[in-house]
Amino acid sequence: MRMNWKRTTCVLRRWICGILVAALFLSLPAVPAQAVSRQSAVGFYLDTVITLSAYTEDSSLLDSALLECGRYEQLLSRTVEGSDVWRINHAGGQPVQVSDAAAEVISIALEVSRLSGGAFDITVAPASVLWDFTSGAAVLPDAAKLADAAARTDYRKLVLEGSTVTLPEGMMVDLGAIAKGYIADQVKQYLIDRGVTQAILSFGGNIVTIGEKPDGSAWKVGIQDIDAPTGTSMLVLDSRDGSVVTSGIYERGFDLDGVRYHHILDPKTGWPVQNELASVTIVSGPSVWGDALATAAFILGTEEGLKLVESLEGIEAVFIQRDRTVVSSSGADPIPMP
Ligand code: ADP
Ligand code: MG
Repeated sequence: MRMNWKRTTCVLRRWICGILVAALFLSLPAVPAQAVSRQSAVGFYLDTVITLSAYTEDSSLLDSALLECGRYEQLLSRTVEGSDVWRINHAGGQPVQVSDAAAEVISIALEVSRLSGGAFDITVAPASVLWDFTSGAAVLPDAAKLADAAARTDYRKLVLEGSTVTLPEGMMVDLGAIAKGYIADQVKQYLIDRGVTQAILSFGGNIVTIGEKPDGSAWKVGIQDIDAPTGTSMLVLDSRDGSVVTSGIYERGFDLDGVRYHHILDPKTGWPVQNELASVTIVSGPSVWGDALATAAFILGTEEGLKLVESLEGIEAVFIQRDRTVVSSSGADPIPMP
């Protein structure tokens, strides 16, 4: 009797379990599964329109990623009062403790300064603040003031020890040529950490990609046509899980008496670099390196810039000259637009 009773309970239990499992499965379709779909979000940070597009089921993820841009802007912007850069510039020569983010960006900036023989220099700010490239007014700064600003530009005088920065009084730092690349990398990692495997993120002239397109092909990144309205591509590059950054004279600047005055300055003089180039595009893994190297290679010019790029592992470049000649590094493969 006992045995029978036990067997009956066992059978009953199995039945109940079976019914419960069946009920669970039957109830599943009632809770709609979140589908992975292409989502986009647009924001404005660091003077730039930022467009994030990713395949995700989390409709609020891209908005949170945009908030990350704001968080980093609060640390790295020269003009935000109380930011790390602001505190360095207002310390009157005293040491300043900065965030890990600022220390990392400054450390890479100094490395690119050394690699480029000082063509790239984040202490060019005393000169860059004398220029107005955004209002549309074609006004040149006072030449004597520019010369004075150039005399106060020298990355070798900026000391970074751990996360302590010391900058001599009278000097100023601006991370405008590198911060967007760093933030692009951070936002990319933020999305990867939350399960995103396919995305294309645009930070003005900086594009970063995660994985590839859902059909398995590469993301296509256009390089701006130097003579055409914004958004018209002259060349197209494939990008898989990488970064494509372009620095060009058409971005911010003005024309005066047949001369193009633009925002990429020669640290030795404080004047916009006048050479054969209209833009430089750097293809790299990390966008922070691409951003800094695009500015550096632009200042160095095609020949020296190409030498620098060829000496670096995992970095490719496309130089577009003002006469539309295209010069590419050995591993770059830009496709002309039809
Ligand atoms: P953007 O992507 O905003 O066009 P770039 O990466 O081309 O910026 O860098 C230009 C910005 O960097 C300028 O606005 C200025 O703040 C700063 N800058 C200008 N010349 C130099 C230089 N030689 N080295 C480092 N930073 C520079
Ligand atoms: Mg740059």
